[in-house]
Amino acid sequence: MSYDRIYNFSAGPSMLPVPVLEKAAAEMLNYGGSGMSVMEMSHRSKAYEEIITACKATMREVMDIPEEYDILLLQGGASSQFAMVPLNLMTTGAADYAVTGQFSKKAWKEAARYGDARLAASSEDRNNTYIPAQDALKLSDDASYLHICFNNTIYGTKWNYIPQTKAPLVADMSSCILSEPVDVRRFGLIYAGAQKNMAPAGLTVVIVRKDLLGHARDITPTMFNYQIHAEAESMYNTPPTYPIYICKLVLEWIRSLGGLAEMQKINRRKAKILYDYLDESKLFHNPVEPAARSMMNVTFVTGDADKDADFCKQAAAAGFVSVKGHRSVGGMRASIYNAMPVEGVEKLVEFMKKFELANR
Ligand SMILES: *Cc1c(COP(=O)(O)O)cnc(C)c1O
Repeated sequence: MSYDRIYNFSAGPSMLPVPVLEKAAAEMLNYGGSGMSVMEMSHRSKAYEEIITACKATMREVMDIPEEYDILLLQGGASSQFAMVPLNLMTTGAADYAVTGQFSKKAWKEAARYGDARLAASSEDRNNTYIPAQDALKLSDDASYLHICFNNTIYGTKWNYIPQTKAPLVADMSSCILSEPVDVRRFGLIYAGAQKNMAPAGLTVVIVRKDLLGHARDITPTMFNYQIHAEAESMYNTPPTYPIYICKLVLEWIRSLGGLAEMQKINRRKAKILYDYLDESKLFHNPVEPAARSMMNVTFVTGDADKDADFCKQAAAAGFVSVKGHRSVGGMRASIYNAMPVEGVEKLVEFMKKFELANR
């Protein structure tokens, strides 16, 4: 069935898979014979308990999350994690931060309110167009953890390796979670705002190694204490019930396609279509060092701000929306998360080729 949907390249909130939306629509008025929608249900009801349990179990299965890790389904966005991480994990009073873009910088600044947040590396010298190499990371012996942003949504860069650290590794995966398999065991804590690749806005996922829980400092607000949420199985207060339900449908959709290995194949294919064209284009180019290119957020510029603005306007009129780059960096950005079909990327490239021909 066609719904006259357009291709939405928004960085987040972003596209959701059509089969997920169809299922949610079909179940909207009467979920599973309950006589109500999931939105209207008590989070303590049996029907809802099954949903949240299935969401966590499917996440564990799809992401291959070992038993030593807890899955917390929280609110507050990834931005709340900038404070929750140091409040719960900065037990030595110091932590290392790699700053490779705006979100990691915010995380670093927030952590400095709670202790000695040290700059392990920064890619600001070249406008965040690369990722520092392992031997460029200044890691301190007494750091409680190293914090990285695994995929930089605004600059379109991605860590193409997992840093080796003595301290636990903490990663903001908001814009790359579920895009490919990751070895969860290499991380102490992973967090993600769900509105990019998992669910609608309102849900924040934290995957944390159990031995890191229980060390929150005294001043930590109860709602910011991971252990409280872990002990209550994410039911300490009302969880974001509807986004959790959609997240469950998204995870089931991924599993039905063959899991994260298959997702990675499709995502690689989509990214390659765009980068291959950008590499041959005489008009557009991608400013990122090739080794650090993101598979989810593809940035490009013409080098002329007026032409960029013209492109965004024409693209929107042709049915490709939200291709404008982040307001802080300008240019263009195509966010091609899991729900973006290959066809959407192919059509965008066709459109870019036409624009190039007309603007030589
Ligand atoms: C979008 C984003 C954030 C901010 O997420 P909120 O849920 O809006 O707080 C943080 N980090 C990364 C990598 C993001 O892409």
